[in-house]
Amino acid sequence: MVSIEEAQRTILEHITPLETEKVSVFQGLNRVTPEDHIAPWDIPPADNSAMDGYAFSHADLTGNSLRVTGFLPAGEARTVPVPPSEAVKIMTGAPVPPGCDTVVPIEDVEDDGECIRLTSTVKARAHIRERGEDIRQGDVVIPAGALLRPQEIGMLSAMGTTSLAVFRRARVAILATGDELLEPGATPAPGKIINSNSYSLAAQVLDAGGDPVLLGIAPDTLDATCDKIRAGLNADILVITGGVSVGDRDFVKMAIEKLGGNVTFWKVNMKPGKPLAFAMLEEKPVFALPGNPVAAMVSFELFVRPSLLKAMGHRRVFRPKVKALLQEPASNKGKRPHLVRGIVATRDDRYHVSTTGNQSSGRLSSLIQGNGLIRLSPEARHALGDEVEVLLLDRAFELGCIGDGAA
Ligand code: AMP
Ligand code: MG
Repeated sequence: MVSIEEAQRTILEHITPLETEKVSVFQGLNRVTPEDHIAPWDIPPADNSAMDGYAFSHADLTGNSLRVTGFLPAGEARTVPVPPSEAVKIMTGAPVPPGCDTVVPIEDVEDDGECIRLTSTVKARAHIRERGEDIRQGDVVIPAGALLRPQEIGMLSAMGTTSLAVFRRARVAILATGDELLEPGATPAPGKIINSNSYSLAAQVLDAGGDPVLLGIAPDTLDATCDKIRAGLNADILVITGGVSVGDRDFVKMAIEKLGGNVTFWKVNMKPGKPLAFAMLEEKPVFALPGNPVAAMVSFELFVRPSLLKAMGHRRVFRPKVKALLQEPASNKGKRPHLVRGIVATRDDRYHVSTTGNQSSGRLSSLIQGNGLIRLSPEARHALGDEVEVLLLDRAFELGCIGDGAA
């Protein structure tokens, strides 16, 4: 039996980043850049006014009056110097004209139509945004490996970028296995259940920024499983659920081996989701996850999602872990670490967590109520108020923020 971390480490060693593709700048959102982006010019490109006001030379100010002899809106640049003791009316963003070094805001003057009187003292260089104060020409503004958020998209645009290279989205083929499965839309029949794993996994792929490809259901025969797996090798990554244990009808491991894959099969020391097989087949990573709906999703979270993110160039591939205070006693009677579905909220600047109740690995509803996974060590007994480790699954948590603190 291997630990979660050992299995993660071994799997990630096999994952290499995919190629890059060129996209228009805002299509780069949530993608990763393979290259440094260097500022081609200073931003802002010139000293400019931070306020609607009047520009003048501070050293030449005598008294507190100035004659206004010009007007400078944003979008125009004046090359003729402003004479000493004169001011020009200047709008926010307009370049500070030669001969001026200070701006007094409109709110801080009295204006009689010809002259202004400063109603309070103004420091030299006040209300001026300096050339290059945001970005200097030659700076590496966005380094290779950066995740492009809306602010990076804005900065790239300010640097004149219209299209850029990003790691491409991974195509992830998803295969369900089992004679008991019917696709959603079919009427449940005796002995049958609906294939939900294909769809929860496809949604997890989409959520991670990947591109799911549904391969449907393989019946429990070696040949059918092989055929479907072969089809899945057109994608970048193949994810299979079910048929990976040691039952009489579990053909997944055998099928991958028959096709030439070198299967690493683990009993991962975790609950839910003990059986996990990983193989490289024709240089494509293949994951065989358990069939139980909760185990499938939790295994995806722990093993497939980080791999997918690494393939798409991400540097940060793991969800954040936090310490949270238990809102109820919780124990793990078993010998494996138990990933208990939990409801996390913040209150008084602390994370608080309660469990979602019954933790049977077939109960998808336990994941619906939850937004985190509480890690309970083997044979751990925790009292109310104990601190436990929680993996935050909701995106709202990724930046450490959370809603209503209702726990
Ligand atoms: P298996 O790992 O194939 O033995 O499946 C374990 C359990 O998960 C069984 O109860 C299956 O019916 C169930 N299961 C397997 N695949 C799916 C699926 N695609 N959707 C929902 N439940 C499934
Ligand atoms: Mg099965």
